Amino acid sequence: LDPEKPFEDAVEQAIKNDPKYNIFITLTSNEDKSIFKKGKLSGIPIAVKDNISTKGIRTTCASKILEDYVPGYSATVVERIEAEGGIIFGKTNMDEFAMGALGTTSAFGPTLNNLNIELSPGGSSSGSAVAVSSGTVKLALGSDTGGSIRLPAAWTGIYGFKPTYGFVSRYGLISYADSMDQIGPLATNISDLILLFSIISGSDERDPTSQFPGINKEKMLKLAYSEADVDILKKLKLIVIKNLIEHPQADEGLINEFWKDLKMLESYGASIELIDEPLILKIPQIYYIIAFSEASSNLARFDGLRYGKRISNVEKNDYDSFYMENRTLFGWEVKRRILLGTFILSKGYYETYYVKALKARTYLRKRIDRILNEETKFIVTPGSLIRPLPLKYDARDLSKLNAVDAPLMLANLIGSPAIVIPTGFSQSSPKSLQLIGRVWSDYTLLSIAKAIE
Ligand code: GLN
Repeated sequence: LDPEKPFEDAVEQAIKNDPKYNIFITLTSNEDKSIFKKGKLSGIPIAVKDNISTKGIRTTCASKILEDYVPGYSATVVERIEAEGGIIFGKTNMDEFAMGALGTTSAFGPTLNNLNIELSPGGSSSGSAVAVSSGTVKLALGSDTGGSIRLPAAWTGIYGFKPTYGFVSRYGLISYADSMDQIGPLATNISDLILLFSIISGSDERDPTSQFPGINKEKMLKLAYSEADVDILKKLKLIVIKNLIEHPQADEGLINEFWKDLKMLESYGASIELIDEPLILKIPQIYYIIAFSEASSNLARFDGLRYGKRISNVEKNDYDSFYMENRTLFGWEVKRRILLGTFILSKGYYETYYVKALKARTYLRKRIDRILNEETKFIVTPGSLIRPLPLKYDARDLSKLNAVDAPLMLANLIGSPAIVIPTGFSQSSPKSLQLIGRVWSDYTLLSIAKAIE
């Protein structure tokens, strides 16, 4: 992280790239860039997903309903970046309220993949990924509820990391499905990614689910600056879940590349074990029931009265019409999820769907706990089983999207850390490996990612 004029460079790049790819919803106009606060990120511009609150900077969640919302406070992660001299460079485009996988549900239009503008960059942290991949900034923050950091990282050929649930404070992150939402970094190289992670991570009394169990911040920082320890790969035990690799939608070419990458790791001393885990293919169903339910409850506050834009007034005490009109500001996908979530949580269906999904999540956790019974054991998958989809892809066609979802959502359902590591290109699409570790194995996971780089 050592360009001479990082901020000026980023401005120059943004002027060129933003009109091309639609990366930012809001670019900040930090006037005086000459006086940088001293710190580990001094003068470094950082792109921040637009569902992370920034004091005095519009935060829209890519939704019409928050189009004019300017928070009066910053998220903990933003405060921590600024305390180290980092500059919030702009707020990035995303799927509306982080609901989507292609970046196409944004009320501000889709972000284009900088590697091929016909294709989606992946979502929902689409703008953050392209901000980094296009070389506009070196670092970005995304959020990951069911793969939203890792999919765009995989489709744009960069690193994306979802930490263990609770490792990074969610204070100031506008909730989608709060039992799975997690903030994490995206970067072109692993050392920068670890540096940003070490700065944003750690417990925070304003987020009661945040923790920092016995992992030393200094140690994490040291890892960012130290040389890679390739010997650690000798201890690496990789688990391949057969059912996932044999997914009917999986791209054959990418799967062949996946095996080649694993052979390479094997040559450095890693061991590889193949297992069956049929439950893995039920992951999207479990995830969506929980995510829609939590979304319907989290988004209830945007009614034009408590939060959100007000486009109609209460007439003759008719609150129903008032709410209904204001909530037309939500886009199609958000409305669909609120409706389904409300249905799932309603009397009579709650036990059938919601409670069952919670039980299935617990069961999944137990099964995976049994598999990941050592600190250096990791489930390995391709970052994406399919190549980037066209921007024009009909997102209502879930067949392909479910292939994307299963390997990524696994980590969110069980709270585990997971990283997407770019490993090159296959017929002009980026390829990558995803490693999923047991909870709180983040340090080991990042050490291994560093050794692989
Ligand atoms: N595509 C998934 C969804 O729409 C994941 C989104 C996310 O991680 N925010 O729910």
